[in-house]
Amino acid sequence: MENSSKSVKRLIEENNFTFKKMYGQNFIINHGIIQQIIKKSKVDHNTLVIEIGPGAGALTIPLSEVCGQVLCYEIDNSLRPVLDQVLKDKDNVEVVYQDFLHSDLKNDLKRYHYSKIYVVANLPYYITTPIIMKLIEEEINVNKIVVMVQKEVGNRFKAEPGSKDYNSLSVFLNYYFDIKKIIDVSRNSFIPKPNVDSIVIELTKKVQQIPLKNKELFFKLIRDSFCQKRKTIKNNLKQYNLEIIQEILSKYSMDLTIRAEHIPIEVFIDIANSLDEY
Ligand code: SAM
Repeated sequence: MENSSKSVKRLIEENNFTFKKMYGQNFIINHGIIQQIIKKSKVDHNTLVIEIGPGAGALTIPLSEVCGQVLCYEIDNSLRPVLDQVLKDKDNVEVVYQDFLHSDLKNDLKRYHYSKIYVVANLPYYITTPIIMKLIEEEINVNKIVVMVQKEVGNRFKAEPGSKDYNSLSVFLNYYFDIKKIIDVSRNSFIPKPNVDSIVIELTKKVQQIPLKNKELFFKLIRDSFCQKRKTIKNNLKQYNLEIIQEILSKYSMDLTIRAEHIPIEVFIDIANSLDEY
C-alpha cells in the first residue's frame, strides 16, 4: 500500500487542491494513527459509519474496507475530484457534499439498512461542539463515536464537576456516553501542520441512563445554568421556579449561590425531573 503521507500529498497536488483554513482542513498523513483509529473503533460489516469531513479519503478508504457502509458529509466541493478518484471502486461509500450541520441526517439515514451506527471522523475542529450536539439532539441513536478532536477540547469531554473544564458539553456527553481517551496524536501527523495537538476520543452509548422526564427541559436547563459561567444558579436561572430548585439543591447540601460548574449531573437530572412535575 502506498504510504498515506505520499498519497495524500500526491492527490492534492494532482488535483490542484488548496487547503482552506476556514474549513479546518488538516489532513491526516500518519498511517499508523489511521490504523489505530480503525482498530480501536471496532467497526464490522453490520456497522454504518458516518464520517464528517472525509477530506482526501485517508480515513474513508480503510473504513470502507472493514465496515458495512460509509456515509460521508463534505462541505468542500473542490474535494470532489479527489474523492471521486480514490473512492471509484468503493461502492459502499456515499459522499454528500453538504454542510453536515445543515444536513437532514434522519432522512438521509432512511436509505440505509444497518444494525449499528458509529461516527468515525477526524473532525473539523472549529465546529466540534455543534457536530456533537447535532448527533445527540437529533436522536439518531448513535452507538459509538470515535473522533479526533483538539486535545484541550477532548479533555473537556470527560471533565468532572469542580474542574475548570466542566461545562454544558461535559454534562450532555456524560449523560449519554461512557467516555474514553484512546490515542494522543501529535500535530506532526497532519498536513498542513496545525498549531495544536490532538486526541482521539471514544464515546460509547451508556447501557443505562438515569431516566429523564423531559429531554428538552433538561437541555435548556443545562444551557441556561452554564449561560454565564461566573454567575450563580440563582442569577442564571431567574426565569425558573427557584423554590423547587432550592428544594432539590438542599437535598445535596447545596444552595442557589452555587455555580453550575460545581453541580454533578445527577443533581441536574433531579432538578429537571422535579421542574417537569410543576
Ligand atoms: N478526514 C480527513 C483526514 O483525516 O485527513 C479530513 C479531516 S479535516 C480535519 C476536516 C474535514 O471536514 C475537511 O475535509 C473539511 O473540508 C470538512 N468540513 C469542514 N466543515 C465541514 C462541515 N460543516 N460539514 C462537512 N464537512 C466539513
